[in-house]
Amino acid sequence: MRAGIGYDSHRFADGRRLVLGGVPIPHEHGLAGHSDADAVAHAITDALLGAAGLGDIGAHFPPTDERWRDADSIRLLEQAVGLLSERGFSPVNVDVTVVCEAPKIGPHVPAMRARLARALGVEPDAVSVKGKSNEGMGWIGRGEGIAAMAVALVDEG
Ligand code: MG
Repeated sequence: MRAGIGYDSHRFADGRRLVLGGVPIPHEHGLAGHSDADAVAHAITDALLGAAGLGDIGAHFPPTDERWRDADSIRLLEQAVGLLSERGFSPVNVDVTVVCEAPKIGPHVPAMRARLARALGVEPDAVSVKGKSNEGMGWIGRGEGIAAMAVALVDEG
């Protein structure tokens, strides 16, 4: 078994949809980014790549690559799972914390777990998603964006 950690953040932007963990979430802003800016999917992708010693999301899916413009980040996650699989690694479980003042993450957790589990090839009970506020502090507290942290365990089969 090997563990990896991932972190991502994106700033809020007008005129964008908010997508977290592959799930569209009704909110007054979306997140700025080259892809759909799904910070949850990106943090998990980095955690998986890290666990397998395969570098990071920027190396595999560079923001200069037009293929990933407005991309569904679940596709990036699935490709990362494929890269791991080619090297004999399979995801065991992931745990994610999403930090933002709004929107409320809790109501969307079951849909995110189901969507992420499908992409990872694990059961939903092997995917944990938790929402936290930042108690009004700093850039997150001012509602400037969203951060996500993820830990992934992979099995070297
Ligand atoms: Mg990102």
